[in-house]
Amino acid sequence: MSFENFLTALVPRIQTTLTPLFRWVVFVTLALGAPVAASAQDVAADTAVMPGIEIALRPERNKAGNVESVLVTLQITDTVSVAPVLEFRAPIELNNIPGIADRLRGFRVDDSIGAVLMTRTDDSVEASGSGYNRRWRTARSVTFPVTVNYRAIVPPGRLRAGPPFDLRTFGGGVSGGGAGFLALPKDSRQYHVHIRWDLRALQRGAIGISSLGDGDADATMALADLESSWFMAGPLGQYPKGGNTGGFSAAWLGTSPDLDLRADMAWAARAYQALSTFFGDTVQRPYRFFLRVLPESTTSGGTAGNRSFMLQVPVRPRGSTSGGDGGLRSTVAHEMIHGWAGSFQGAGPWASEGLATYFTANLQRRLGLQPIKAFVAELNRLSEQYNGNPYRNATSDVARAAFWADKNGELLTYVRGSLYFFTLDAAIREASGGERSLDDVLLELFARRADGETVTVRTFTNALAKELGPGVAAQLDSVVVRGTKTLFVSPDAFGPCFTHSWTQVVVPDFAFDRRTPDVQTVVSLVPSSAADGAGLRNGDVITTPVTPEMLTSDRVEQMRLDVLRGGESLYLTYMTRPMVNESWQWSRVPGVPLAVCRGAEPSTTQSSSRQSSSKHSSSKQPRSKHSPSKKRAIPKRRAQGSP
Ligand SMILES: [Zn+2]
Repeated sequence: MSFENFLTALVPRIQTTLTPLFRWVVFVTLALGAPVAASAQDVAADTAVMPGIEIALRPERNKAGNVESVLVTLQITDTVSVAPVLEFRAPIELNNIPGIADRLRGFRVDDSIGAVLMTRTDDSVEASGSGYNRRWRTARSVTFPVTVNYRAIVPPGRLRAGPPFDLRTFGGGVSGGGAGFLALPKDSRQYHVHIRWDLRALQRGAIGISSLGDGDADATMALADLESSWFMAGPLGQYPKGGNTGGFSAAWLGTSPDLDLRADMAWAARAYQALSTFFGDTVQRPYRFFLRVLPESTTSGGTAGNRSFMLQVPVRPRGSTSGGDGGLRSTVAHEMIHGWAGSFQGAGPWASEGLATYFTANLQRRLGLQPIKAFVAELNRLSEQYNGNPYRNATSDVARAAFWADKNGELLTYVRGSLYFFTLDAAIREASGGERSLDDVLLELFARRADGETVTVRTFTNALAKELGPGVAAQLDSVVVRGTKTLFVSPDAFGPCFTHSWTQVVVPDFAFDRRTPDVQTVVSLVPSSAADGAGLRNGDVITTPVTPEMLTSDRVEQMRLDVLRGGESLYLTYMTRPMVNESWQWSRVPGVPLAVCRGAEPSTTQSSSRQSSSKHSSSKQPRSKHSPSKKRAIPKRRAQGSP
């Protein structure tokens, strides 16, 4: 899973989030090779300064009114007249979801001479889960313009978790990501891109919107950005009415009884504006939020792409959306923040996801975008998912390897990364007596990055060292890369409005592989846990029904499991031995003014701010790990050793 491939740009092109429990990073290996046509010798009639691609999209409907396919026509021009070979490709599998390669019909390439014979090869299956491609190569040289025709068949609904690239139909329309249905040339150059919608087959009033623009649109971009762009056509809802006016806009297909999309989109527009101001935007550029409702979906999630993101939500009954933790709105903020926060060059996903999660919680609080209780709920979620995570003290590589199998492997990147940034923020505010914060450090780095400087992990730790002294690089490595050091978040880390008491969370002995939702396949078995000691092994299929609550129960009880292993039936019985970690239960301190909860200095005058700030941080004292308040008498064994 090579994150670095898509993190080569300053701002990660593609990031993914599922809420509330599922959040994906997307490992798009779409880095394109050297330009194929550049070696062509025939330079006659070269008037164009860059290659061009016109993409005509014609959704086609079945009798039920659903879109069953999209007719795609690519018209490709180039700065040269002839290319010795052209290669097109489409994913067979992409980030844990089936790619479009097996669902392209009538793939045909023509040039000015006529039909071009193609050879077809498939990349080898990657074990990493990031995906692999089918490639079509011309069997002879081609003369531009070149036309490509094919029909992309909308796949049946899927249960597998993964980003919303795949074509989906609902409500008389269709949506997807560029990587989900475009077979593009292998070329790293900038293209002039023109999108042309042909919506004759859709109902009257249908419109087409993409990350490139409302309706037919033009842009200059690399083809990789086209693959991370979003496309949506049909009877779409729009915010503001009438579409994009230069800044934020939203488009959606379908609706669900639990959603109030007009209100959510108005909130998203307000949030975008507030975040844009915070991150110091000087120009207003179009930014698009796409939302698709999928009745067959059981989870929701989003993926950020080219100045836009797509959010996918299920149909749910009215009132079923949890109001407390900000749910959908937090995901919206998270995806938008990716576009400003980006990552540090050379950093693992802890940086991009840690930054996005940190800013999402902190800025929604400070900019007044969510009620204070949502911030408390988020702190409790992060604390529980960190301390109750069997990968808490694992290396990021080990956790990453479990990404698709176990949501704990996936969540670790977000929770460990964001809690790390929160502890840095508290440390900088304490060291500077409230004069400086992590945001000062980060915004300075983002400004330098915007000026063209390469901001690496080293650049970041050098900037941190100025605030906190030497040792920050080693700390970063031990906390978020190797996982050997466990984070402690001080009860006054967020000022006088918040505090925490000790609580306990149970680390599950094992989890079930979510890639095999029909059977209970054991993954993430913790070495020397009770289940491990009883003989359970990763890969075993447990046929006894086991609920998630049973896996995180703090009760000592008899466990009886019927197990299938390599065609053999086994029967295991053992006493559970809950592995308990201390965690932090956050709450709001009564009586503290709202402005202080939102991050204002607790004092009313400027002159005393330093004093009062250092006063409340002087009480910061890491509690001994061995003195938690023991609320329950349960046999305890500190969880250690990652699965
Ligand atoms: Zn994210």
